[in-house]
Amino acid sequence: MPIQLFVPTFRVDECLQEIRECLDKGWTGLGYKTVEFEEKWKAFTGMSHAHFVNSATVGLHLAVKIFKDELGWKDDDEIISTPITFISTNHVITYEKLKVIFADVDESLCLDPIDVEEKITDKTKAIIYVGIGGNSGKYKEIEMLRNKYNLKLILDAAHMVGTKLDGENIGMEADATVYSFQAVKNLPTADSGMLCFKDEKRDQIARKLSWLGINKDTYLRSNENGDYRWKYNVEYIGYKYHGNSIMASIGLVQLKYLEEDNKYRKQIASWYDEGFRPYKNLIRSIPIAKGCESSRHLYIIEVDERDALMKTLNDHEIYPGVHYIDNTTYSMYSYAAGSCPKANYMSEHILSLPLHLRLTKQDVDKVVEIVIKSVQVGGKQGT
Ligand SMILES: *Cc1c(COP(=O)(O)O)cnc(C)c1O
Repeated sequence: MPIQLFVPTFRVDECLQEIRECLDKGWTGLGYKTVEFEEKWKAFTGMSHAHFVNSATVGLHLAVKIFKDELGWKDDDEIISTPITFISTNHVITYEKLKVIFADVDESLCLDPIDVEEKITDKTKAIIYVGIGGNSGKYKEIEMLRNKYNLKLILDAAHMVGTKLDGENIGMEADATVYSFQAVKNLPTADSGMLCFKDEKRDQIARKLSWLGINKDTYLRSNENGDYRWKYNVEYIGYKYHGNSIMASIGLVQLKYLEEDNKYRKQIASWYDEGFRPYKNLIRSIPIAKGCESSRHLYIIEVDERDALMKTLNDHEIYPGVHYIDNTTYSMYSYAAGSCPKANYMSEHILSLPLHLRLTKQDVDKVVEIVIKSVQVGGKQGT
């Protein structure tokens, strides 16, 4: 059996039961289960606001747009971001005609506060921080920079579903935190996300913008008697970004199992840790920051000969991934090529090992064994 990087696990019967309720009721859209999921998400994280959207990408876009419009940011103003991320993080800045300024990463693969501070200019308006693999990195120091320079901080928490820092859900102090519930993330639906603004007013604007700028959601417009309050105003040129009750149904079920699921992810990560411990010089696991209880979305190692290791693993039907290719090597962002040497180096040497709930101890042992063999051979050839 091939060993894949990610395979989502759904509690199928429970998901179908929730979805059946939507179908029986004849309510699959905005409202109903989306409201219930938002409430449960707030209870789980402690966030004050949560708006369910159809992906993290659109949630990030709304966050950038809402800050830009409210604070009067100009085209070509700058947002500092990371080259080691899924491209959504940086595209949402570009959507709003702002400039992505790439800062380098540190040993956690998250933004390095020292380089971030060096890249702050008069045009810098915000920082988007990504907790790679669920790791907090030096997030607290980034918060301090936000305060010192009066910037906005957007946390791309796509990997951080369930991550805690110093015992608290991470992102409580960010100006906006955005989660992904895309199929391979820790809380899989099919596609959806959650946009959590710290500020109530922005949460309200997001709710209008995510439904074409209409100022009331469908649920409010009709009551139990079928009384249809059909008249509404349109206040913004909004988007079709809101989530729906079918996705929320799956999310509600998956949320119940999130802590248990993340616990098993941690177990898998500790099996990898144990297996690689004697080979620390050849196989360097990305360290989890102090005080961080990572969601363990990813298990990333850094090796000398990444491509050779990838090929050996593929030959054994093991299919790791790379999170991520340095975004400044993409033609869209090549203006920044060379600006983040550490990110560029890491991007050539990292590999994400299979990590999902269907893996057994035997699977992990097999991956560990082949990784060790491969890097030992590689090491010998190199000497
Ligand atoms: C998956 C991911 C996103 C985008 O999430 P979607 O819900 O698929 O839009 C954004 N940022 C990071 C770091 C991601 O891994």
